[in-house]
Amino acid sequence: MNILQMEPCFGEEEKKAVAEYLNSGGWLTEHKKTQEFEKMIADYVGSKYCSVVSNGTVSLVTALMALGIKPGDEVLVPNYTMAASAFVVSAIGAKPVFVDIERETLGIDFSVMKKKVTDKTKAIILVEINGRFPYFGETIIDYCGCEDVHVIEDSAQCLGSFYEEQHIGTFGMIGSFSFSTPKIISTAQGGALVTDDEYLYEKICMIKNFGRKQSGVDEHECVGLNFKFTDLQAVIGIEQMKKLDDRILQKKENYMQYYDELKNVPGIKFIETNLVETVPWMNDIIVEDRDNLQKELLKYGIKTRSFYSPLHTLTPYKNVKGNFPNSTYISEHGLWLPSSVKLTNEEISYVCNKIKEIME
Ligand SMILES: *Cc1c(COP(=O)(O)O)cnc(C)c1O
Repeated sequence: MNILQMEPCFGEEEKKAVAEYLNSGGWLTEHKKTQEFEKMIADYVGSKYCSVVSNGTVSLVTALMALGIKPGDEVLVPNYTMAASAFVVSAIGAKPVFVDIERETLGIDFSVMKKKVTDKTKAIILVEINGRFPYFGETIIDYCGCEDVHVIEDSAQCLGSFYEEQHIGTFGMIGSFSFSTPKIISTAQGGALVTDDEYLYEKICMIKNFGRKQSGVDEHECVGLNFKFTDLQAVIGIEQMKKLDDRILQKKENYMQYYDELKNVPGIKFIETNLVETVPWMNDIIVEDRDNLQKELLKYGIKTRSFYSPLHTLTPYKNVKGNFPNSTYISEHGLWLPSSVKLTNEEISYVCNKIKEIME
């Protein structure tokens, strides 16, 4: 057996669309297909504007730049997230301030966060891990509104996930998504920013295009870089978006199957997940002896991935002081089981049976 933790998922539709596009003489760079893809995303999440960029990391850089975050400013970041959520802050010379998480949702802990707000706090990167909205997410957004702290949502893992019927990524001023290979839909690399604010949208469009209002007209209104997308990717993204509803169902069903087969196994815990609104992009579990389970599963050809390391343990942040008990715990015990949408019921059962054998 060889069961991958994640794998790309493309079909005949993408191949056909790319061939048609190339035959049509398209210029490859971003143009009409990109606009069509952007409209699909905006319509899907229910935002006024969407701008797609090269990936879900530069989308966060663009968001920080659009909001005017400068060197010396502090930006709150949950201590458990993909490293990019913090590196983008460091990359523009601002200071990421790490905040521990709540174990229930793996989101930022509001009570800890409040204590970390200073005069220099200008923004928060609110990360929704695996489609789950933090318990106090709405309170955090209200609180930040009062304190003049801009809310950027890093919703890279959340396409298809809602909170109280509102799509995640549309609660803050700017929401950011990723279309890298393991994400629910992929354009190889790719990212999107969504907002309802026209001014911010225009700023985003300039920042990703050398500070220009229009491609081909070399008038530069602000400092910008080149974070543009390509129509070649957009034709793939459009086909992937058409498959999103099916993928969401498949992800939810796979998670349910894992839950049903493993919920009574001693030493394994699930994170509370409302499958009406949350699409578990990854099938995540909390395991007493995670490293052993991971090692044993590999003997059967079952690939898993351990949770991210807490940010304060990463080399660039080795001087950060503080106590982060929840992110440390989660990071040491969290495991992503095989999560491809191509998994069959039999394969999931095979994985679950091996887990039971190892754990019992
Ligand atoms: C995937 C991911 C990113 C980075 O997106 P890329 O498109 O790979 O640059 C950022 N934040 C989170 C939470 C992610 O899951």
